[in-house]
Amino acid sequence: MDYAEISTDSHNLRLLREKQLQELTEIDIALKKIEDKTYGICEMCDEQIGIKRLKIKPHAKFCIHCRPLYEKSIKKELSVFFPQKK
Ligand SMILES: [Zn+2]
Repeated sequence: MDYAEISTDSHNLRLLREKQLQELTEIDIALKKIEDKTYGICEMCDEQIGIKRLKIKPHAKFCIHCRPLYEKSIKKELSVFFPQKK
């Protein structure tokens, strides 16, 4: 194993940890929304998120239509912090 592989591993671990922390935050937000009775409503279009989707991802913030748009914008943001190696 060379140095490049080791650093890729710790990089992946960091990403994983950040992803988990982010999910915890999202679960927290979802719990607040249940209190506010806004749970299950898409943050982008204010439409009800389908129950099927909520069963798969209970802390979903966006409906099935807005999610891809959101992920696109996140990927753009991430590429600023983690530029793709060439
Ligand atoms: Zn939506």
